[in-house]
Amino acid sequence: MSKKIVVLGAGTGGTIVSNNLRRHLPDDWEITVIDRDDKHIYQPGLLFVPFGIQKVGTLTRSRKKYILDGVNFVIDEIIGVDTEKREVRTRSHTFSYDFLVIATGCRVLPEETEGMEEAWGESAFTFYYPDAAEALRKKLDAFEGGTLVMDIADVPFKCPVAPIEFVFLADWYLKKKGVRHKSQIELVTPLQGAFTKPKASAVLTESAREKNISIRTGFQLNMVNGPEKYIESVQGEKLSYDLLVVVPTTFGDQVISDSGIDDGIGYVPTHHNTLQALKHERVYVIGDATNVPTSKAGSVAHYEADVVVFNIMAEIHGVKPEEIFDGHSTCFIVYSRGTSSLIDFNYKIEPLPGKYPMPHLGPFSLLRETKMNWRGKLGFEWLYWNVLLAGRHLGAPPTLVMAGKEIG
Ligand SMILES: Cc1cc2nc3c(=O)[nH]c(=O)nc-3n(C[C@H](O)[C@H](O)[C@H](O)COP(=O)(O)OP(=O)(O)OC[C@H]3O[C@@H](n4cnc5c(N)ncnc54)[C@H](O)[C@@H]3O)c2cc1C
Repeated sequence: MSKKIVVLGAGTGGTIVSNNLRRHLPDDWEITVIDRDDKHIYQPGLLFVPFGIQKVGTLTRSRKKYILDGVNFVIDEIIGVDTEKREVRTRSHTFSYDFLVIATGCRVLPEETEGMEEAWGESAFTFYYPDAAEALRKKLDAFEGGTLVMDIADVPFKCPVAPIEFVFLADWYLKKKGVRHKSQIELVTPLQGAFTKPKASAVLTESAREKNISIRTGFQLNMVNGPEKYIESVQGEKLSYDLLVVVPTTFGDQVISDSGIDDGIGYVPTHHNTLQALKHERVYVIGDATNVPTSKAGSVAHYEADVVVFNIMAEIHGVKPEEIFDGHSTCFIVYSRGTSSLIDFNYKIEPLPGKYPMPHLGPFSLLRETKMNWRGKLGFEWLYWNVLLAGRHLGAPPTLVMAGKEIG
């Protein structure tokens, strides 16, 4: 009788892990990956849509095209996970499993903030999903100056560098448009700095200062007043805006909460190093669906997929899963159109300067603004579609490599 692995979600993490498992397991292992639609979005490209650098149409491709033959791809809504019976229910089927991988990502919920829905599409926007990014492009195109506030509603949120990249690009864009001298740009965040890691935060704060972008920290969004155009914090502080761009409150998928396997906001409690679901046997979690304390980023999902495949193989062979994952995350940070920085870190090691991926050679520079990094940021999309999604390896381990990093 065949053995079954079911993967929930065919986004970045689900696609990589399904393909990688198929490469490693013999044919008597049946691999099924389920997603609600056949539209795979290259989400990092959404950052560029409001500035007319990329178009939504070019970011969306068929999921099926990127899932290997030999993996069953099912298009259906997942409506329940029963970890006791080892079953997953979709609208039209029930799938039993020997191992389950949860890769259902996370979702943004503007409606969680009082007043946001009323302001939505009028004065409040986001770039976190395609239609919204396109609506923001039109709004920015018509923007003639004023106060642009980029607000992070709550933590955790997806891609912690994206709001910083947005304000940096807004500086470039408004200069190009000739209205920067009539505009204020402000990043408003509930964090204590521009980024989650203090050392990188200091570097980014200095870059913001050079660009005359102000950063307001410790601001916990409570409500939006669309008609009067201000936001108010939980502490009662009010900030006026002419154009509000938000990273809305972010939760894990509804099915995770409905199945009673979440932490209260839709994420699965996950072992930080083995990536096993803490309370459920034979269940692994990757990508944005986990509650592990590292960035919700595609690079993280990619590194985690390697660890999950290794540990499922270990369990199949009767060996204990290993505590391999170290929170490794790698992200380009756009500074302007034409330059970018790069950070590489894990749970314990903060982003450090140096060269990446080849020690001393690069060609990319860590924690520095370079044109080569910008080329890397753009070139990454090709790598994503043609190499990474297929579950191929680039010869690098999933954990942080210290060679090439400058310490002290
Ligand atoms: C604007 C923006 C910029 C970003 N920039 C970067 C960057 O520069 N670098 C980087 O590394 N990361 C970046 N990211 C983050 C990155 O895209 C995500 O972290 C990554 O896609 C997470 O992968 P995932 O597999 O966990 O989730 P996803 O790729 O979101 O996939 C989750 C999948 O699960 C499916 N699903 C969920 N629930 C159900 C259900 N009930 N039934 C059926 N299907 C379901 C969804 O349809 C989806 O396809 C960015 C994200 C955004 C929004």
